[in-house]
Amino acid sequence: MSDVLKIFRELEMTWDRDNIYHQVLTYIAQASELLGLPAGMELILAQPKNEITVHFPVLMDNGDYQLFRGYRVQHNNVLGPFKGGIRYHQDADLDHVKALAVLMTMKTALYWLPYGGAKGAVKVNPRSLSQNELMRLTRRFTAALGQNIGPFYDVPAPDVGTNAQIMAWITDTYTNLHDPARRLDGMGVCTGKPLLLGGSQGREKATGQGLIYVLEQMLPEMGFDIGKVSYSLIGYGNVGSWTGKLMAERGAKLTAVLDHTGAIYSDKGIDALELDKYVAQKGGVGGFPNAEAITEDQFYSAKVDVLIPAALEQMINDRNVKLLNCKIVAEAANAPTTPQAERYMVEQGIQILPAILCNSGGVTVSYFEWNQNRQAETWDLEYVDAQLKKMVLAACARTKETARRLKCDLRVASYCAALERIAKVYLIRGIFP
Ligand code: GLU
Repeated sequence: MSDVLKIFRELEMTWDRDNIYHQVLTYIAQASELLGLPAGMELILAQPKNEITVHFPVLMDNGDYQLFRGYRVQHNNVLGPFKGGIRYHQDADLDHVKALAVLMTMKTALYWLPYGGAKGAVKVNPRSLSQNELMRLTRRFTAALGQNIGPFYDVPAPDVGTNAQIMAWITDTYTNLHDPARRLDGMGVCTGKPLLLGGSQGREKATGQGLIYVLEQMLPEMGFDIGKVSYSLIGYGNVGSWTGKLMAERGAKLTAVLDHTGAIYSDKGIDALELDKYVAQKGGVGGFPNAEAITEDQFYSAKVDVLIPAALEQMINDRNVKLLNCKIVAEAANAPTTPQAERYMVEQGIQILPAILCNSGGVTVSYFEWNQNRQAETWDLEYVDAQLKKMVLAACARTKETARRLKCDLRVASYCAALERIAKVYLIRGIFP
């Protein structure tokens, strides 16, 4: 804590324990201290390289113009082009996007991808827009970002509230605004595109798939068998629903799910495929007929082996952490646990599989997609899955080795393994000029 406060004084920022960006910086400071990194390095990483805010008008279906605010935060590019998703969410703000951009730098470094970290957002509830409005907003946001994105500079991808269709509009807008002779290169301007437009096999399920590989690797060492565990899920969007389907294939039992429409429970187990169909129709898990409706507090209190937060940040916090009745939290979302909640969980012996290890499957397959685009190739699903598994196992091994060497928990170890790589590269490159 003392170290992070020093950084805050230096940067003339005021510490706020509930601010997610400040929370992420605490982890960076803690890991940097353990690694004995020079203070200058911490300062470099404490602030993003570029924070871009744009305001742009969009023509709405009723004929009016509405003004929107968008962000792209480019945190660090010492390891390669900036990389990270774009989210559409009504609560998006700059500090939130900054926190998520730092986490992207950590993920790409931990997984040894040739990328830095970035994140973007538009402050909008995408559910409140028609498809046409969503398209016009996406095209106008892409135009507003201009030269700030590009296949060799900063490569967006889907995140909360965005999907392959939105990536298709970004790609189309970008390639139309740039050199027609470089249209092929332009395909790499973002990842997570539809298969027909240069997307990769396995990208849609990649975050869920990556998590499954982490669980297969780590659960046995924690005394659990993936085929026999009971688990609950926060969120049933892309990551949650793929996790549900892939866990079902392995025989794990899904007993409770919470999302923005409600919470459901069944001690016999919830059928992930049926729930998937229901959510596609109704927009959420609330009202699912083959399970019992429960309250949010009952969801957090449900007894399970593994709780998997797969939605937004800070879902496990002061308010609900004391209710938890699980042995392991496997963080499929970005920063789903607040540091205060984490302290309590550690005291209670709840083990944490940290986010930057668990949820990097998405960006890893994004890297495969970008590679395929650069080589004008398409890889088959078996190959993508096998390459992803290799990368996940290497990241697990790196995290465990770091934990043993530095005698710390997996969370701190995952940050240390990432920071060590960044620090070494800074040392080799030196600071320009
Ligand atoms: N939005 C995803 C993440 O947070 C994917 C990023 C990417 O593929 O670049 O990891």
